[in-house]
Amino acid sequence: MELTTQYESLGISRAVYAYGERVLERLEPRFRAIDETAEYNQLKVIGAMQRSRLSSGCFAATTGYGYDDLGRGVLEQVYADCFGTEAALVRPQITCGTHALACALSANLLPGDELLSPNGAPYDTLEEVIGIRPSQCSLMEYGVQYRQVDLLPDGSFDYEGIRRAIGEKTKLITIQRSKGYATRPSFSVAQIGELIAFCKSCKPDVICMVDNCYGEFVERMEPSNVGADMIVGSLIKNPGGGLAPIGGYICGTKTCVERCAYRLSAPGLGQEVGANLGLLPSLYQGFFLAPTVVAGALKGAVFAANVYEGLGFRVVPNSTESRHDIIQAVELKSKEAMLAFCSGIQSAAPVESYVTPVPWAMPGYDSEVVMAAGAFVQGSSIELSADGPIRPPYAVYFQGGLTWQHAKLGILMSLQKLTDAGLAQLPELN
Ligand SMILES: *Cc1c(COP(=O)(O)O)cnc(C)c1O
Repeated sequence: MELTTQYESLGISRAVYAYGERVLERLEPRFRAIDETAEYNQLKVIGAMQRSRLSSGCFAATTGYGYDDLGRGVLEQVYADCFGTEAALVRPQITCGTHALACALSANLLPGDELLSPNGAPYDTLEEVIGIRPSQCSLMEYGVQYRQVDLLPDGSFDYEGIRRAIGEKTKLITIQRSKGYATRPSFSVAQIGELIAFCKSCKPDVICMVDNCYGEFVERMEPSNVGADMIVGSLIKNPGGGLAPIGGYICGTKTCVERCAYRLSAPGLGQEVGANLGLLPSLYQGFFLAPTVVAGALKGAVFAANVYEGLGFRVVPNSTESRHDIIQAVELKSKEAMLAFCSGIQSAAPVESYVTPVPWAMPGYDSEVVMAAGAFVQGSSIELSADGPIRPPYAVYFQGGLTWQHAKLGILMSLQKLTDAGLAQLPELN
């Protein structure tokens, strides 16, 4: 059977398919560069596993306290080696990215200390962690002060403002690599490195933490290679490779990571406890696959940017910009278009393709959010997914795809739904 027929059987019209193929024709050099980065990072992961002497004994399940858990220690060694840090905390007991970030912040900030965000408002869920939106058990409730310096209108760092904001009490600087639910650009590792060097020149002992969510393996280097004291992320995003069913990581200096371990378990216990519950094989195997999974997701993001920019929608990053995370924002201009886009992503899923996404109030977010995901791991956003808060500019944030082929189907399906509803128009083919 022909490929186009196969697409038609899933609901993609010949016109939508043909438009997609035309877009793809000019993306070959970009895809080649993405594959080269994946190749580089694959070697990095394999090297880390070899140097850490990963063995089949590391896959054994532990329960209870989890004392002397060989596989847990080796996994943390693999992460530390791969990301170039002294230490790592990689645990299924870290429930999500927000938890990992909350742990890293509350472990390293004490009452009277000041936290600084030099890239404007942090990710939505951190507003409650910090207390920007008043919340029980927030850092502010415990007497941590917060300050932020907004980005300049062109999206760059306000270095003068940052210099003025760093003071006696500034203990930790939190830098967010990915744009999250904002339409600012994401930062490259090189930009983050410059920012860290600047902050340390203002105050050498300030702790620089990077929220690395969605950024892992997009470039050849990570923020920990350019001076970050801690990098933090979720295992149901990039580094879990789609296989990790839960978890988060904090990699960084021994001093910072040790405190995180005491905060996560209990003072005195730290990294010595935490049974792996039989999850280690998927954490290892997911990390092994992560560079290629991220490459597939990146191809999907680049394809989506080119498809939608070609139809007159504003996309961030735009069709030609370099990539620093796997997220693609598409400003769809209306709630209806957001819902159509998300229903396309949903109906392309292997799981729960038959449901229709509806907006709902999610814990941690201040506007209603619509989410499309038919994932093997619930809420996993390294799997093909789209979401966005229902507020102007009605941007959907599209990410993931365990395979490039699935990402492609999802994007074509979203376009199919938009054109069916008259919310987007294909250009004339000639
Ligand atoms: C996803 C994300 C988080 C929070 O992670 P959860 O796993 O959803 O709690 C924090 N920061 C950024 C930039 C993210 O993308």
